[in-house]
Amino acid sequence: PSLHTQRHQFVIDFVVNNKPQKVVDLGCCECKLLKKLKFHRQMKLLVGVDINGATVKKHMYGLAPLSTDYLQPSEDELRIELYQGSVTEKDARLRGFDLVTSIELIEHLSLASLSRFSEVVFGYMTPLAVIISTPNSEFNPLLPGLKGFRHSDHKFEWTRAEFKSWALKVCKDYGYTVEFTGVGPAPPGQQESVGFCSQIGVFRCLGGRDACGPLLDDEDDVCSYTLLYSVNY
Ligand code: SAM
Repeated sequence: PSLHTQRHQFVIDFVVNNKPQKVVDLGCCECKLLKKLKFHRQMKLLVGVDINGATVKKHMYGLAPLSTDYLQPSEDELRIELYQGSVTEKDARLRGFDLVTSIELIEHLSLASLSRFSEVVFGYMTPLAVIISTPNSEFNPLLPGLKGFRHSDHKFEWTRAEFKSWALKVCKDYGYTVEFTGVGPAPPGQQESVGFCSQIGVFRCLGGRDACGPLLDDEDDVCSYTLLYSVNY
């Protein structure tokens, strides 16, 4: 399977094992991950956010229910919502989720935007768990013909140590723990020295649901995202 598929499969495996009911995918792009996640029966609310509204609009109808979804209705209802918006902006509708995914997104942010992202995701949205994937630059010499970054829009590509230091700071600032892993293994004998092609951090809120539930305060009515699509199953 492609690296792209492996990253999404990592999220699917997490969903199978942890059974989140409310999930938001940041930088959902063509909504491919959401299309896979909607088949998980425990899912109650699936949300996608991307700054690129045109791409989301082009692909969003692929999330519409199929006639078979109505022939075999599940007990629990699923709602899907797609928004145009930036992960550097707060929106009260995204607070208190079970899982936030950010797959190959952070490397597209300037360092100033990345610090807004941390504040928005970990400090404001306060989900129970967060999965973040980003390129591991130590793997780059193994990619044939690559000069510079993997994509021209990348603002940075981090070593494992750089990702770790950012992630540990986030944990300290906002009360999370993190475990590091990845997808796309290195060739035999080089796993230790190089690591995975895509590095992944799995963050969990230290205090569990009590600490990570949405707080009621003045900020609660911030709605900066534009709803592009919503559907009830
Ligand atoms: N997550 C998808 C995947 O796994 O295939 C897409 C990854 S794509 C490399 C990065 C996506 O992040 C793009 O769709 C881009 O529009 C989106 N993006 C970039 N900056 C963003 C921001 N500030 N807020 C929300 N989305 C953003």
